[in-house]
Amino acid sequence: MIRDLLFAGHRLSGQGDTRLRRGIALAVLEGVAGAAMYLPLILLLQEVAAGTVTPLRISTCALAMLACMLLRIMAGHIGMPMLFAGAYAMMGEARLRVADHLRHVPMGWFTRQRSGDLSARLTSDLELIEHLWSHFLGSFVSGLAMPLALMLFLAWVDWRLVLVVLAGLPLAWIALAWTQHVVARPGERLIAASAAAQSALLEYVQGIAVIRSFGRFGEAWRHLVAVLDEQHAALVAVEAKPTPWLVSYGFLLEAGYIGLVFAGVWWLADDTLTPLTLVAFLVVAVPVYRQLFEVGLATMMLRFSRRALRRIEALLAVPLLPEPDAGKARSPVDHDIVFDGVRFAYDGGDGAVLDGVSCTIPARGLTAVVGPSGAGKTTLVNLIARLWDVQEGSIRLGGVDLREIGTGELHRHVALVFQDVVLFSGTVLDNLRLGRPEACREEVTAAARRAQAHDFIEALPQGYATVLDEGGASLSGGERQRISIARALLKDAPILLLDEATASVDPSAEAEIQRAIAELARGRTVVVIAHRLKNVRHADHILVMEHGRLVEQGRHDDLLLQGGLYAHLWSRQQVAQGWRVGTM
Ligand code: ADP
Repeated sequence: MIRDLLFAGHRLSGQGDTRLRRGIALAVLEGVAGAAMYLPLILLLQEVAAGTVTPLRISTCALAMLACMLLRIMAGHIGMPMLFAGAYAMMGEARLRVADHLRHVPMGWFTRQRSGDLSARLTSDLELIEHLWSHFLGSFVSGLAMPLALMLFLAWVDWRLVLVVLAGLPLAWIALAWTQHVVARPGERLIAASAAAQSALLEYVQGIAVIRSFGRFGEAWRHLVAVLDEQHAALVAVEAKPTPWLVSYGFLLEAGYIGLVFAGVWWLADDTLTPLTLVAFLVVAVPVYRQLFEVGLATMMLRFSRRALRRIEALLAVPLLPEPDAGKARSPVDHDIVFDGVRFAYDGGDGAVLDGVSCTIPARGLTAVVGPSGAGKTTLVNLIARLWDVQEGSIRLGGVDLREIGTGELHRHVALVFQDVVLFSGTVLDNLRLGRPEACREEVTAAARRAQAHDFIEALPQGYATVLDEGGASLSGGERQRISIARALLKDAPILLLDEATASVDPSAEAEIQRAIAELARGRTVVVIAHRLKNVRHADHILVMEHGRLVEQGRHDDLLLQGGLYAHLWSRQQVAQGWRVGTM
């Protein structure tokens, strides 16, 4: 099992770590030195029995014990940090590998996952494995090495007594195996209950504003209490169910001690054993039993870690978006985007979200995608970034099918600005540099200026060094989006996909965002999902979507003349804003 877990470490992190191997070797040495400490004591007792003991012998034995003790402490002292360093480095690598894998997993996979379950895998499962390697493996290995070494040494003194000491071991082992069998089901229940609890707590905290405003507090609370009650019950079960079997394991293990007394007295009587050897065995057997019991307990933890490991390995086995074969990957030379008979449906969704969409988005210019809510605008734009693959037809970038461009290469060409801009906790500067980590300060400020973000950033308490709280909650929607635009400008990708911010954007901020978008469109292919039609009057090309189909396309004036859906939407928005079309 240990070998399996160690190899699994290599599999997870994609690399072995010599510090971990050395740390384990030192843990073995620690256990052996711990056992060797008893040897001088036993030799001394034998000399006492033989009447050959001298002061010199006593001091030599004391020195030998001291040396073993020092060796044990030193091995632990040097080995432990090695194990920590090796385990943390390996898990750091494993975390990056999981994160990197998830980066290439089709987005559809995420929508099928419960966020609590995924976050449980990424946090508690990985922590459990990390804890296993950093804290557990060393003490498990030394805890096993110590009684084994001690029994080997003692076999040389009296092998019959060693057999008696360990007589209960086979039955105890069966009891331990049964304990693990018994704990399996409550263990599964606990994992499910913990994931449900994590998920429920996350939903509760994220939805607290909605819960309050809709007065659904009682309902949400009851759900939370039920889920936490289940977690509590599962925790109790996981402790209570195996207890009688664990007790039997301890009992069977120590049954050898009673045997030791009986057999010892028997052999004393027929003069094949000295009383002091028996005393030595009676003294030494106690720590042996204690260590073996601890090791038995620890195997329960191994079982849980193994399950956590399987769950992480399952995560790494999620199929990725297919990459083009090495050598066959192509790079787009131009940046026009062509949809050719594209049909797309979400996994588990009802019916096609895009149906037979064919259009050309010209290179270097501003293309707006408009249409009623649910028409498929976001889906269309996300498909350009290949967040999913189309089911029928193809999307070509500069004449190359997206599926023939490697993901890394595609990301070099495409920058995305979502409506729900994700800012990470860190400074404004860190968030901007995400676009290009090596950008110097001047380049960052220049991008921020062009994205109309410089002035409000300077007005923040510490300017660019202001630390944003998680998600950038202290900024308005418009400000977050301008930071995100600056980030995209810094990345300098030739294609920019943008979902115009609608939330908390006042008219002056909106004008600034429009200026920033116009700035972006110079020399780039910009595709923007526009929610306010007045912002797209000057777009080079407008795609009008309805029910997953492209119903009209062209420039603003031509579309108005056509008198179709665009003209209808336009007049509706004009009325809503209290303006008359004629005055525009
Ligand atoms: P729009 O941006 O025009 O509002 P969307 O592209 O967001 O439209 O959505 C088009 C349709 O696809 C809607 O019916 C929506 O419910 C559905 N949809 C969007 N995202 C998903 C998803 N991840 N899984 C399943 N259905 C989705």
